[in-house]
Amino acid sequence: MSVRVGEGIDRHRLEAGRRLMLAGVEIEHSHGLAGHSDGDAVLHALCDALLGAVALGDLGQLFSDKAEENRDRASADFLRAVMERVVGAGYRLGNADLTIMAEAPRLAPHVDAMRASVAKLCGCEPQRISIKATRGEGLGPEGRGEAITVRAVVLVEEESS
Ligand code: MG
Repeated sequence: MSVRVGEGIDRHRLEAGRRLMLAGVEIEHSHGLAGHSDGDAVLHALCDALLGAVALGDLGQLFSDKAEENRDRASADFLRAVMERVVGAGYRLGNADLTIMAEAPRLAPHVDAMRASVAKLCGCEPQRISIKATRGEGLGPEGRGEAITVRAVVLVEEESS
């Protein structure tokens, strides 16, 4: 069986009064992620990792942040479209490991909902999706609560024909 790996990284600024979307889940917080779309850095990093694994470019090439149709768009749409390309290339998701760097809010209570959300969007079991949260100890833009950064690593497996 042929396997390939991909990595994706995304960082968005936190902005007061915006709703916070992470992994397709709305999370109660004073700030949300700024962006042309809904700013869901978890799904953006995952999309880039998946596209990287099958060498099909990056999310910005598929969905322009200049296009009016993508304004405030749910990033779940992006992930569905990316998964179609992964499947079209003959692969399926083996597993994904996602690390969210955020000082606040506390994400542990939301991990299971985020895993279920990503699994549903990818059409796989939640056991294939890992989501971890880490804080910045007051250092850097994440630690100061100015931004949330997400790193994604995925493995995709070639579908046997
Ligand atoms: Mg992004």
